[in-house]
Amino acid sequence: MYDYRMTDEQKEYQRIAHEFARDEIRPISLELDHKEDPLDCAYMPHLLEKLDKTGLRTMSIPKEYGGGGVDDLLTHCIVGEEISWGDRGATGFMLSSTKISHILASELLGDPELADYWMREYVSDPTFLIGTATTEPESGSENQLPYNGADGGYQTTAVLDGDNYIVNGKKHFISNVGWARLMFTFVRTNPDVGVEQGASLLMVPTDAPGVKMGKVHNKMGYRLNQNAEIIFDDAIVPAKYRLGPENCGVSYIRRHLRGDALINAAGQIGVARAAYEKSLEFAQNRKQSGRPIAHHQSVGIKLVDMYTKIQAARAYVHYAAWRQDMRHEIPIDPPMTLTASAFAHEISCDVTKMAMEIHAGVGVQRENFLEKWFRDTHNMLFSSDGGNNMKKVRAMYAITGEWGARSEDENPVPGGAYVSVGDGL
Ligand SMILES: Cc1cc2nc3c(=O)[nH]c(=O)nc-3n(C[C@H](O)[C@H](O)[C@H](O)COP(=O)(O)OP(=O)(O)OC[C@H]3O[C@@H](n4cnc5c(N)ncnc54)[C@H](O)[C@@H]3O)c2cc1C
Repeated sequence: MYDYRMTDEQKEYQRIAHEFARDEIRPISLELDHKEDPLDCAYMPHLLEKLDKTGLRTMSIPKEYGGGGVDDLLTHCIVGEEISWGDRGATGFMLSSTKISHILASELLGDPELADYWMREYVSDPTFLIGTATTEPESGSENQLPYNGADGGYQTTAVLDGDNYIVNGKKHFISNVGWARLMFTFVRTNPDVGVEQGASLLMVPTDAPGVKMGKVHNKMGYRLNQNAEIIFDDAIVPAKYRLGPENCGVSYIRRHLRGDALINAAGQIGVARAAYEKSLEFAQNRKQSGRPIAHHQSVGIKLVDMYTKIQAARAYVHYAAWRQDMRHEIPIDPPMTLTASAFAHEISCDVTKMAMEIHAGVGVQRENFLEKWFRDTHNMLFSSDGGNNMKKVRAMYAITGEWGARSEDENPVPGGAYVSVGDGL
């Protein structure tokens, strides 16, 4: 039986997120986006303090720690759409934290005292953000692929020295660098073999010795989300900050995640919806040739296409999120998260382009939102969760059964690579 109704809790989170986006994010979105220096675009502490009061920042944290105890992906997608309706970059810095904070409560963090400490820190500091560092200057898309050669993937190393790891390397394009207090960092603990046998995940406190911020990237869109290099120069990270066994590999780690790329996909729908709403209002008021342009078929049909694309993408993303939430009862369909995410990213670009066409001369003016939303959606098409090309390449492997089709002894967790294809890490 299908039931498309939201729960009361989901409706409440949607309301809170929408009101926050409307009252706090949208009013500052354009002005911050236009700042020349990318360091001036990210407006975090003040906004985070207000956000904290809404309960959205801590929604993933278990209730006993004062969080919302929301562990389903669908509710996060509902919130992600609303926040992005306010500004796409705001979803980035808020939800890239929220989507990871649940790991603090997971079995990945083997030391309960450590989990307890960081969950309390996360809840008590309203500006606490988290980031995830995978990408390096010499390894981007290949981190998304099932290639397992020693030469492939990130090369940042972590060498055990007594009770600590000594970490060396550089990651770039990383969200929340400069603001995050914890950076979940993928490292090679055995660089002589591929990432399935030689990679580990470290939870790195960003104030650890030897960790520093590098260049801040100046992006075309998604500017309220700060992206920068993070440099590990003989950085000292306690060994107990490793998540999972040493050399457990990417499959093992992904097995513990839940397809959080869908939050970004929902975010794209939020921008598309914002562009659609503005276009509908404009087309009903702007008159040409004696009637509102909405009544000229070329414009009216565009509005219908925009509406259809948004509805179709939301239905698919919500279904894929629901399937992830049901993963212990219904087997994961490996390409679903990836294809839902890729579809949402594509339609958001289509819709924001159509919105600009409907607004014509008004659409290209920088004082309006249209060209900003166009930049934001396209920025994410190329980069979000590996970028659309890579999502489709991964979906291709998933559809043909090649993804994760390594031998059982090669793969530390049998079938692990299938489990959470399309996660946010
Ligand atoms: C706004 C933004 C936020 C980001 N946030 C983070 C973050 O928080 N953490 C993080 O770790 N990373 C982050 N990234 C990095 C992002 O994941 C990478 O940009 C992405 O993985 C692509 O890598 P690349 O840019 O090096 O492209 P490249 O790997 O150089 O790819 C270039 C082109 O070649 C194509 N290509 C490459 N290999 C293949 C192949 N085998 N088959 C087919 N096509 C291929 C790609 O699809 C792409 O079109 C972010 C990037 C941006 C721009």
